[in-house]
Amino acid sequence: MKGSDRNKSCPCGSGKKQKRCHPEMRPRSESVVFDFGKPMALTEVHMSADGSIGLFSNGQQVQPASAWIQTDYARPAATEGDE
Ligand SMILES: [Zn+2]
Repeated sequence: MKGSDRNKSCPCGSGKKQKRCHPEMRPRSESVVFDFGKPMALTEVHMSADGSIGLFSNGQQVQPASAWIQTDYARPAATEGDE
């Protein structure tokens, strides 16, 4: 995974690059969101040494219809009383 997302234009719609628009924000975690197109209860996630991930529901390997990355940012340090 490359660390170039902050060079993309900001999702807030300002038209600025993300790192320029919110310089105080730092990616905190990247979550992969899976859309199975139907109700799905994952029971296991297997990570292999080669980095591939297997998703299992009740012992059956399942494939999501789509998946995307959601970036969560650390809370800006400068703002106070703004929860
Ligand atoms: Zn922005």
